[in-house]
Amino acid sequence: MSSENNPFNAMLEEFSGAARLLALDPGLWKVLTHPKRQIIVSCPVMMDDGQIEVFTGFRVQYNITLGPAKGGIRYHPDVTLNEVKALAAWMTWKCAVAGIPFGGGKGGIICDPARMSQRELEALTRRYVGEIADAIGPDKDVPAPDVNTNAQTMAWIMDTYSMHVGVTTTGVVTGKPVEMGGSLGRREATGRGVMITAREAAKHLGLRLDDATVAVQGFGNVGSVSADLLAKNDARIVAVTDWKGGVYNPKGLDIPALVTWTEQRRSVAGFPGGDPLDPARIFELDVDILVPAALENQITVLNHHLIKANLIVEGANGPTTPEAHKALHKRGVFIVPDILANAGGVTASYFEWVQDRHGYFWEEWEVNERLERKMVSAFNRVLDTAKKYDTDMRTAAYIEAINAVATVTRLRGMYA
Ligand code: NAD
Repeated sequence: MSSENNPFNAMLEEFSGAARLLALDPGLWKVLTHPKRQIIVSCPVMMDDGQIEVFTGFRVQYNITLGPAKGGIRYHPDVTLNEVKALAAWMTWKCAVAGIPFGGGKGGIICDPARMSQRELEALTRRYVGEIADAIGPDKDVPAPDVNTNAQTMAWIMDTYSMHVGVTTTGVVTGKPVEMGGSLGRREATGRGVMITAREAAKHLGLRLDDATVAVQGFGNVGSVSADLLAKNDARIVAVTDWKGGVYNPKGLDIPALVTWTEQRRSVAGFPGGDPLDPARIFELDVDILVPAALENQITVLNHHLIKANLIVEGANGPTTPEAHKALHKRGVFIVPDILANAGGVTASYFEWVQDRHGYFWEEWEVNERLERKMVSAFNRVLDTAKKYDTDMRTAAYIEAINAVATVTRLRGMYA
């Protein structure tokens, strides 16, 4: 499998480009390209029809040099160990770029949540947590929501883990409901980080946000909040697509109205405030900024040449394949890479974990203000590194991340 459709190979390719520029020690190179721990579990569940089904679950702790593993849990029929491994590696680099004391982890269960009842999902979640309970915890590995898991899933995980250890342990997961130790501002944090990095990149490129047009792929948590906050900064959101359809309005879409429409109909398709748009055409539009905020492997060798935007801000994880990235960079397109652009979510998760451990909760403005400072500082560090090494922002973000993890690995030394 090439890096075009193998996310772990794509991660390795991105890693290698940066490690070469850093002249990384070959031993450390080996350490940082191997996951520390990969757990595979079988989870039997009594289904609603009385039959027993067995689901396969994964948890990968890619690297815990800087702190406990951190990363979401994904429920999807296409989950593979290879994908979870790549996502866990990206979390390692993301936490290091964001400057937060976490390693990287990720989990997944092969299942189709659209065909499961809430009771079945709860039973599956609790059994999965039972199977990995020894490996997770506030000091070991702190899961969070990802595709098809949410605050309710986190509440079940927190409860199951707490029953196992006999103590209510809010800090074992982030992305929890606010009523039980979640953080204000966490839900919007990834989109807020996308808006902040887009704003900083526009400033760097001499592009006025209040003059800029934007197209957003995906209108879930990341896409909708990014669109809303960019619109609040006076950018014009002219197109949005999701799994079912798209909508286009050159004068700018009314994002709060589109959010309400989507909440009621589960898709942007048919929104009366614009013309219908074929989702496959989102990247071809004549806009200044593209925000891919749906899935991996969306900007590829097949479509990168159609892109007209000068700035791409990656809300999703891995939306641009390495080949496409190379070609776009060569053409002068400025790309804010996923491990920087969408790091707002894990940064606010870190704030949630800190609040849980202190038992003292911040107001929303405080979360947003700290997030703003962390994201602007991370953006500027990566930009300075890109200038210093005369390279693109993705390679620069990897250089920052690898350097941070390698330095601490060296300081800690080898335990043998
Ligand atoms: P979500 O499930 O809330 O939303 C996903 C959106 O993508 C939906 O609107 C869906 O309709 C759309 N979509 C799916 N397939 C599509 C397709 N083929 N074409 C166009 N649109 C399509 O998920 P989310 O939490 O917003 O996550 C989106 C991406 O951002 C994922 O890659 C995720 O890993 C990444 N991410 C999320 C967070 C977070 O805090 N939620 C943090 C970092 C990274």
